[in-house]
Amino acid sequence: MKKMDDLMDKPCSDCGKSLEKKMITQEFEREGVKIQLSGLKAWVCKGCGETYFKPGGADKVANAANSLFELARIEEQHKGAIVAKLN
Ligand SMILES: [Zn+2]
Repeated sequence: MKKMDDLMDKPCSDCGKSLEKKMITQEFEREGVKIQLSGLKAWVCKGCGETYFKPGGADKVANAANSLFELARIEEQHKGAIVAKLN
């Protein structure tokens, strides 16, 4: 029995190896503010480590990071780090 949820049907577009679902951490830095988003579900290539999100997923991650940068700006937390965990 194949577990369709565990492996994306498309191979990596860079190296052709298969992808596996993983919890990853992404870091963003802008104007001295660091933002870390952890617990993101993404597809990671077993060969080269390239990260893939489901359609629209990467945009949502970018939007979340932008919102947090905006928050940091409003709160004048110009030097520091924001860590958002999704568990
Ligand atoms: Zn790859």
